[in-house]
Amino acid sequence: MRELSDIGVVGVVGAGTMGNGIAQVAATAGYEVVMRDIESEYVERGLDSIDDSLARLDEKGRLDEDPAAIRDRIEGTTDLDALAAADVVVEAAVENLDVKKDIFADLDGVTDDDVVLATNTSTLSITTIASATDRASDVIGLHFMNPVPIMDGVEVVVGERTADPVVDFAHAFAEDLGKETWEADDKPGFVTNRILMPWINEGVRAYDEGVADREDIDRGMTLGTNVPMGPLELADHIGLDVVLDASETLHTELGDRYKPAYLVKRKVEAGDLGKKTGKGFYEYE
Ligand code: NAD
Repeated sequence: MRELSDIGVVGVVGAGTMGNGIAQVAATAGYEVVMRDIESEYVERGLDSIDDSLARLDEKGRLDEDPAAIRDRIEGTTDLDALAAADVVVEAAVENLDVKKDIFADLDGVTDDDVVLATNTSTLSITTIASATDRASDVIGLHFMNPVPIMDGVEVVVGERTADPVVDFAHAFAEDLGKETWEADDKPGFVTNRILMPWINEGVRAYDEGVADREDIDRGMTLGTNVPMGPLELADHIGLDVVLDASETLHTELGDRYKPAYLVKRKVEAGDLGKKTGKGFYEYE
């Protein structure tokens, strides 16, 4: 396994909400980054988000370096083979087990065999994803929080066969990206989503059943429990498709108390996925 001091190039799979955030924090920490998505349009959108985010952080004086210098360290690509240069890979593609297993089988083939392969999955089993490779001991969960450049925490999720040095490496790597970590076993939803998803779905049900209007549900939870965002606004930030995928996994694995709210399903079917499509429970410019 490569030591932290051997890491020069970070591979990121997926240029969406999480992938582009992970690429940005890795480049900000001084690493070269290869960020891969399946369509050049998605790669460009991810790079544009990084430019916007770096510009905002620069305006607030929160960067130690010129944003252009950070941005120069990120290569966007659709070429899977470009990930061969990576010393560690973080996968942040869609929350679908078959897609992730295909990606990990590809990564197993394309990267050097001492490269740690991490997944940013919200709820899927690290052990199952690792089973698509011939090096399950090198596969781990590195669950970044959204928005990645702002949130301080990363959940390290340990698979059934993850090797101890890989666990230590994952903590050290996340800390090197400026994050604080905690560790969870490979159980559905880990710590965060096991608790967060029912909270969001209950907020949606309360809205759907007319307990209060959307603003009052969010105000009730922000003012009443001192969280920065209520469940409906947070669902929009996460992406309702991501909420639905995560809730369905938890429902399958843990039973009826994790049933996704009907209105989440209806909005996903209508294409109203939250902030990323301009409309979810709220509307966005
Ligand atoms: P997203 O829909 O914004 O982005 C997913 C990206 O993956 C898309 O650009 C898509 O084109 C790309 N993709 C699909 N198949 C691919 C492949 N084979 N190779 C490369 N790229 C591929 O989703 P997201 O919100 O960034 O979520 C990504 C992962 O992070 C999911 O596993 C999700 O559960 C997890 N996650 C999300 C959040 C959140 O708040 N959104 C938080 C923590 C973890």
